[in-house]
Amino acid sequence: MSNTKRVIYFDNNATTAVAPEVFEAMRPYLTELYGNPSSIHNFGGQVGFAVEKARAQVADLLGVRSVDSKGHHSEIIFTSCGTESDNAALFSAMYTCPKKNKFIVSKVEHPAILNVARELERRGCRIGYIPVDSHGRLDLQRLEEMIDEETALVSIMWANNEIGNIYPVEKIAAMAHKYGALFHTDAVQAVGKIPIDLDNSQIDMLSLSGHKLHAPKGVGVLYIRRGQRFRPFMIGGHQENGRRGGTENVAGIVAMGQAAAMAKADIGEENTRVRALRDRLEQGIAAVVPSIRINGDPDHRLPNTSSISFEFIEGESILMLLDQLGICASSGSACTTGSLEPSHVLRAMGLPYTAAHGTIRFSLSRYNTAEEVDFVIEHLPPIIARLRQISPYWDAKNSGR
Ligand code: PLP
Repeated sequence: MSNTKRVIYFDNNATTAVAPEVFEAMRPYLTELYGNPSSIHNFGGQVGFAVEKARAQVADLLGVRSVDSKGHHSEIIFTSCGTESDNAALFSAMYTCPKKNKFIVSKVEHPAILNVARELERRGCRIGYIPVDSHGRLDLQRLEEMIDEETALVSIMWANNEIGNIYPVEKIAAMAHKYGALFHTDAVQAVGKIPIDLDNSQIDMLSLSGHKLHAPKGVGVLYIRRGQRFRPFMIGGHQENGRRGGTENVAGIVAMGQAAAMAKADIGEENTRVRALRDRLEQGIAAVVPSIRINGDPDHRLPNTSSISFEFIEGESILMLLDQLGICASSGSACTTGSLEPSHVLRAMGLPYTAAHGTIRFSLSRYNTAEEVDFVIEHLPPIIARLRQISPYWDAKNSGR
C-alpha cells in the first residue's frame, strides 16, 4: 500500500532518498545489462567496464587515483555497506599486525566500530576508548598519550552521525603514524558532505556507505591505501582484485558511482544552501522554545546535522507527534531507536539525563526546502509546549521542587 501522506524527511543521516539520476544510471544493470562482470564474453565485459567507471567516480570524490602508473587498481573496494567496510578494516588490522594487539577508538563511534572493538577484545586485543567533552570534541591529548608502539590501529570517525561533529582525522592519522600504527576512519557521514582529499592525507583505510549519499542500500566502499597490507574479510572468488569475494552488486556499484559524481558536484551546495536551511531551523526553534541545547561542536559540525535537546520531555513522544504531521526525524541514531536508554554519544558527552532523553536529531539533504523548515518551525513549538505541560520534570523545574 503506498503512503500518499506528505512526508518532510529530516532523517538523512539514517538514510537518503535515491536520487532520480542515480536510479536512471542503475536501471539498465537491473534489466537488460545483467551480465557478470567476471565473464570473459563481451556481454559481461561491458558490465565490468561500468564497475570500473564507478570505481573511478568514487576515487575522484575521495581524491584518490584509482589506477597506479603500472595500471594496477585499486584502493577502492566495493562492499555491501558501511558496516562491512568497518568490519573489514578492523579485522584486517588484527590479522596483518599480529605482534600488536592494541586498538584505539573513540567513545562516540558508530556501533559498526564499537561492537567490532568489543569482539576484538573478546579475541584478546586491548581497546583504548578516547573520551569526548560536553560538546563531543575528542580529547586529543589523551589520544596521543594512549597511542604507543603496541598500537595496531587507531579508528576515529570523520563525522559523527548523531551530533555531526567533524573530527580532525588527518591530524590523528599523522599522530598514529608517528607510533607506527595504522589509521582507519569511518567516513560514512562525512563523504559527500565535506571535501575529502585522501591522496594528501595519511589515512590508511576509510569506510563509506551508498545509502547515506543518495545511492541505494546494499553498497559500500572500503578505501585501502595502495601498498597497505590487507586481509580480506569476505573470502571467496577473485573479485575486487582478490580483496572481497562475491559477485558484485553491479547496479548498486553503478549507483554509487553516479551518486559520488553528483556529491562531488554538489558539495558546495551542501555547505551553503543545506547549511543555511539547518541554521534557519535551529534559529527558528531557539527563538521560541525555552530550555533547549544545541548539541555538538559549534565550530566543526556537518552542515546538514542538528541535534537539539528539549529538556524535561521524552524524545520518543516528540518523534511520535512529529510523525503524525509527516515529519521524519530521529531520537539519536536509527540503530538505537527502540531502546529508551539515552544514546552512547550523548552519555559520553555527559549530557544530563533530562536533556539526553529529549534529544532529537534533524538531518537535512539537498532535497529539503525552506518551506519544509518553516513547517517544522511552526509545528514543533506547540508540540514541545504540550508535552511539557504534562511532564512532571518540567513541572518540578518550574515550581522549584
Ligand atoms: N558508520 C556511521 C557513522 C553510520 O552513521 C552508519 C549508519 O548509520 C554506519 C557506519 C553503518 O553504515 P551501513 O548502514 O551502510 O551499514
